[in-house]
Amino acid sequence: MNLLNMFRPKRKRPKICLVFCGGTIGMVRDKKTKALKPAKSIKEVLSIAPEIHRFADIDYAFIGNIDSTNVQTHHWATIARTIQERYHRYTGFVVTHGTDTLAYTASALSLALQNLNKPIVLTGSQMPPDDLASDARNNLINAFRVATMDIAEVVICFGDSILKGIRAQKWSEFELNAFHSPLFPKLGKIGADIELTPYVERSTEGVSLPLDCKPDFERGVVEIRLFASLNPEMIKVLLDSGLCKGLIFQSYGAGNIPTKENSLIPLVTYAIKKKNIPVLISTQCTGGKVRVGVYDTGYQAFKVGAIPTLDMSLEGASVKLSWCLAQTKNIDIIREMMNTNYVGEINLEKKAG
Ligand code: ASP
Repeated sequence: MNLLNMFRPKRKRPKICLVFCGGTIGMVRDKKTKALKPAKSIKEVLSIAPEIHRFADIDYAFIGNIDSTNVQTHHWATIARTIQERYHRYTGFVVTHGTDTLAYTASALSLALQNLNKPIVLTGSQMPPDDLASDARNNLINAFRVATMDIAEVVICFGDSILKGIRAQKWSEFELNAFHSPLFPKLGKIGADIELTPYVERSTEGVSLPLDCKPDFERGVVEIRLFASLNPEMIKVLLDSGLCKGLIFQSYGAGNIPTKENSLIPLVTYAIKKKNIPVLISTQCTGGKVRVGVYDTGYQAFKVGAIPTLDMSLEGASVKLSWCLAQTKNIDIIREMMNTNYVGEINLEKKAG
């Protein structure tokens, strides 16, 4: 035994909590049927990358082992509360989650857990762990590495990228770099090493603000993508149902909606003035932002009170509306909140309208 090592103080390894939610990364292939099914335990999932134990002490929190298609707003709240309860005990958190709705959950956690002073890293995989050349092992190891770094926000670590959670979107069901954030620079790049960019939020030393947890989300936000045959009468039925609490139109281009035949303007007015339902205008252009008043077809919608999502991702805007609605039903306050930058979800430098 090396005597020097005996007396060298043991370096404390970072404590990371794995919050397990399911998805492909939590699946194994049945030997007989070859079908994918949930792994029996988190330990079985972690067994694909035993090296992680070399650099981190790991604890687990089990949320569920579900396809993220089935994630509901109450799951977001449960994940947020789970992290809140354990916040002071860990250096960072890794959340494993299905990729399909991972960007929504990342947006939800970003808003639910504010004043973060440590990393919350979401990851998943395109292929189940025991597939040949699966991305599960790399993504899991990298997420744990990122969770030990000086980061103070919710990020997605996937493939070769570290992205701002509330700005990210799943863009491919095939590529191993399944996520992008077209309107916000990458927070980091994973190659031979992990390099963070200047865009990442770093922790504050000394006194930091206490964690601010607002984990509730209102159900009943409806996203509607515009297309030529859309009949406003159909949407009116929805508004009158009492189930719709907020409406998002994925509009054309810079924020344009029909104003002539089958005009949506009376409907937007009805929703806001008569039903107290906030209406957001986002865009169908991935990588595009809503720019108020570029065209008259956009200007008219904002004149009657629609709220532009500016450069927020659709996922981010939708979750934010749901988060605002859980706090207030007052449309003026919601407009104010939608136009407030809480966690870097919106760039208000050239705020329009
Ligand atoms: N449908 C799966 C899920 O989102 C896909 C995945 O995990 O990649 O849970």
